[in-house]
Amino acid sequence: MSTQYLFKYIIIGDSGVGKSCLLLQFTDKRFESSHDLTIGVEFGARMITIDEKLVKLQVWDTAGQALLVYDVSRRETFDHLQSWLEDCSENSNMNLTILLIGNKSDLVDKREVSEAEGQAFAEKHGLMFLETSAKTSHNVEEAFLKTGRAIYEKIRSGELDA
Ligand code: GDP
Ligand code: MG
Repeated sequence: MSTQYLFKYIIIGDSGVGKSCLLLQFTDKRFESSHDLTIGVEFGARMITIDEKLVKLQVWDTAGQALLVYDVSRRETFDHLQSWLEDCSENSNMNLTILLIGNKSDLVDKREVSEAEGQAFAEKHGLMFLETSAKTSHNVEEAFLKTGRAIYEKIRSGELDA
């Protein structure tokens, strides 16, 4: 069967929350604990050089959906969610479908943010919400499929163009 839709994602959130690991778990079904992964796939981003410095440009406005990730074992990454949302609304010309992800749910003993807090933040800002573990793959498949399904429903209802 040929591809009928192409849905583009961006994955955002603080450094170290597990964005690359989530992507790798989804695309390759594996987990690597080393911090600087080289996976050759980068959604909506491009490297450029300015003044001999390597700069990463994030392409926001072609993406209809975003995964916004924090680390349940590091409260500061949860505290920064508000400013990530502000970045989204300033830089996107469309209504993003955002799934909030509390990653590293396997770190039970180190948890600093409860699932209820994540849920409450999501409800307050109209986001979908899931807790995941890129390590055990808990909810990773669901996370990517959930936003895909949401965008698909928006297209079907005429709210978005395909
Ligand atoms: P990024 O900066 O958001 O892309 O974060 P990475 O994907 O590079 O992950 C940062 C660190 O967190 C790495 O050391 C990973 O091994 C670790 N990590 C990522 N996801 C998980 C997870 O679900 N559980 C645990 N225990 N560690 C994780
Ligand atoms: Mg990364």
